[in-house]
Amino acid sequence: MDESKLSPMMRQYLDSKKEYPDALLFYRIGDFYEMFFDDALTASKELDLVLTGKDCGLEERAPMCGVPYHAADSYVSKLVSKGYKVAIGEQVEDPKKAKGLVKREIIKVITPGTQTEETALEEGKNNFLMSIYLGEKKRGIVTVDITTGECYATAVDSSKECLDEISRFSPKEILINPSLKEEEELFSQINSRFSISLTEKEERFFSLTEADKLITAHFQSSIMGLGLSDQADLRRALGGCLSYLYDTQKNLLTHIRRIDFFQNKDYMVVDSYSQRNLELWETLREKKKRGTLLWVLDYTKTAMGSRMLRHFLERPLRDKKKIEARLDAVEEFTGHYIDMEELREYLDSIYDIERLLSRISLSTANARDLLALKLSLQYLPDIKKALSPFQSSLLSKMGEEMDSLEDIYRKIEEEIVEEPPLSVKEGGLIKASFSKDVEDYRNAGVNGKEWLQELEAREREKTGIKNLKIKYNRIFGYCFEVSKAYQGEIPDYFIRRQTLAQGERYITTELEELQNRILGAEEKLKDLEYALFCTLREEIAAELPRIQKTARELAHLDAYLSLAKLAIKENYVRPRLSEGGSLFIKEGRHPVVEKLLEEEHFIPNDTSLEENQEIAIITGPNMAGKSTYMRQVALIVLLSAIGSFVPAKEAELPICDRIFTRVGASDDLAQGQSTFMVEMSEVANILRNATKQSLLILDEIGRGTSTFDGLSIAWAVVEYIARHIQAKTLFATHYHELTELEGKLNNVKNYCIAVSKKDGEISFLRKIIPGGADESYGIDVAKLAGVPEGVLSRAREISAFLSDNDFMQENKNIVAKEGGLETDGNLESQDKQAKNGAFEKGESKNGASGAKLLKSLNKLEDRTALTGGEEEVLRKLRSIIPEKISPFEACSLLFELKELLQ
Ligand code: ATP
Repeated sequence: MDESKLSPMMRQYLDSKKEYPDALLFYRIGDFYEMFFDDALTASKELDLVLTGKDCGLEERAPMCGVPYHAADSYVSKLVSKGYKVAIGEQVEDPKKAKGLVKREIIKVITPGTQTEETALEEGKNNFLMSIYLGEKKRGIVTVDITTGECYATAVDSSKECLDEISRFSPKEILINPSLKEEEELFSQINSRFSISLTEKEERFFSLTEADKLITAHFQSSIMGLGLSDQADLRRALGGCLSYLYDTQKNLLTHIRRIDFFQNKDYMVVDSYSQRNLELWETLREKKKRGTLLWVLDYTKTAMGSRMLRHFLERPLRDKKKIEARLDAVEEFTGHYIDMEELREYLDSIYDIERLLSRISLSTANARDLLALKLSLQYLPDIKKALSPFQSSLLSKMGEEMDSLEDIYRKIEEEIVEEPPLSVKEGGLIKASFSKDVEDYRNAGVNGKEWLQELEAREREKTGIKNLKIKYNRIFGYCFEVSKAYQGEIPDYFIRRQTLAQGERYITTELEELQNRILGAEEKLKDLEYALFCTLREEIAAELPRIQKTARELAHLDAYLSLAKLAIKENYVRPRLSEGGSLFIKEGRHPVVEKLLEEEHFIPNDTSLEENQEIAIITGPNMAGKSTYMRQVALIVLLSAIGSFVPAKEAELPICDRIFTRVGASDDLAQGQSTFMVEMSEVANILRNATKQSLLILDEIGRGTSTFDGLSIAWAVVEYIARHIQAKTLFATHYHELTELEGKLNNVKNYCIAVSKKDGEISFLRKIIPGGADESYGIDVAKLAGVPEGVLSRAREISAFLSDNDFMQENKNIVAKEGGLETDGNLESQDKQAKNGAFEKGESKNGASGAKLLKSLNKLEDRTALTGGEEEVLRKLRSIIPEKISPFEACSLLFELKELLQ
């Protein structure tokens, strides 16, 4: 494009566009935001807008589309939710006063991670921007929500941990430095998550010197004071994040005041796979909240409380004292039901103070926002009072320290009317009682007519001119009109303005003053109200730290109250935290499944994993409830670590460092990995990172490959855990052969889920009992699922044949020998053995076993073929009409039939 030929406006447009090439530019012209060139093509498609054209100086018209300025927010949100960035190019001078082209500037860039538009945000969910800096040693990760002012920072060692953080925070946008792309696995994982928008910035954007300058200025503290001296990669991530925010928001974001620096060792780690698998806040398939643990837990009354509860779940604690403190608070509430309900009722009237504060600080809050803040503060003194009798450490401290912000309440109460309009520039928001000037201007508008009538009557009386009238004229304004007959009686303070055919028009000083009061009042009132409102907003912004602190306390309070309500409503008990690390649950229930069951009752089950008996092998048919049972144990352990009561009759629980879950075959095709490959890399991760303090939930390990490989792997994994990790482990399997391990390894115990079979029909008892399952009932479950009878009967036939055959037994022995005798259960040495061919022996055995299976099946096939032969004989016999065949034909048929039978 030959830019020299462009019209001046188009040149101005392109200059702005060059500043933010990766954003769609909304360019204000009159009452519209217009888009041009490629932006217009994209926006017209995404927003369903009519594409037109504009003369731009070039031969061809520039493609153009636009949206009315007053409706722009919803269009912008739509684009941003689709992952686009939108730059707002605004007129920054009054078009009426501008000489030549109106000056325009980019006043804001809206991106998925910096969206603040209320309608685009989810209430109980943060809108996070994450910044990841991949350095030589570490990955610095900073996560910020500008709608609430939260800022979290950590540094991790591996890309796996980095993914855990991404999964935990579910950011809307991630800022990265170029080297992150070299971590292929991490990069492709981020890239494949459609809900995350990726923003790459060049290396110098994360410069350490620049970062340190920004950080110290923003948080008004030295790097050392912030505890970040030896965290260079984290500082780079934080610096990059701050400069991105300043640049897009064009604001100093003073509401982001503290960095919540955390380390993984402070929290129980639930890796991204397990977060998804345990369906903590999002269901696996539909990605919904309903059906998740958070859905069951959430009795919060405020959006802040709901986010806090989710935050509890994202970071289960490991510090016993902290967990006990939360449990104490929850227990105290459960013991004071009436007070608890009173507090919950107060919380009902509290709006999202954190998000209101962010709008106040970004100067986008309107009078309705301030009113919402006022309403949120109105019961604070009552909340503080209601908390005073509570004695548990967290609640009593909260009651004592809570700043009930009466001064802020009063300020808003004094100034803002009860039903303010949306706009802050159109007046009608400030109480007349707050300012004499506002009162006067408002009176001028309303009472102007009365004042004029009063003056008219007074002057008529004074002058004796009976038909003296005040009239309005657009050029001369208000004037006294006197007809010709009264010209002689005009007093000298009347000043002539205009001569008319029927008389003269005059003004007086008083009338002029009145006119000024009346005519200027509306505009002045609007300006004054806006100025007063802005001052109030700034005054409140200055108190931000105080209000933020109270908001955080309210969020905590709401979360504890929610846990207490849950405990009472769902009949949960307070867990004991075990000293020695044993896990004992009496009549445990799955918190979600028990709520989702409609007709059936949930059957509670016990669990006991103690020192020297850490591993439970669980067998039982499909659909019996193995997965439910194992997940229930994981969820109960997790619940206790967030300070919640648990769904059980009694529970003594360990504080775990990590929960790992691995469930059978699940594809990760987006990553280009096969089902089995995914499964094995998860297993490898678990075996490398699990410790004695971990809880492992392993469901159907080894299912994605041949029976013998799978069984061998499952066997070796149990052995490795039993000998080298000794983590508390629930291991569900269809390989009954694994129950053999109970006798061989003394910390392994067998359990199964009871099933009853009557008249060929199975029913699930859902009860876990010691011992291994007697049968696998696969065919019975297939029947329940509606597999055709023909297939079922054939499967029964094959199964019966195989079990009669001694072949399964033989193979079990082979595997047992391989697993138990030929390896020492050490993975590394198994690796070595595999490399130098030790496993080939196993393979050849597997091969031998495979051949045997094939032979057996062939025998079965032969038998079936014989039956087929008989059928053929019968068919032939039926088709014969004896009186019609010759003796020779009869004889040769006999031979044929005999042959068929043989
Ligand atoms: P598969 O091996 O096929 O995955 P499974 O043994 O893991 O099966 P689950 O998925 O845990 O079985 O349970 C199947 C269904 O049984 C659940 O969806 C639930 O409705 C019901 N169920 C499980 N446990 C219980 C229980 N304790 N009480 C009542 N119903 C239960």
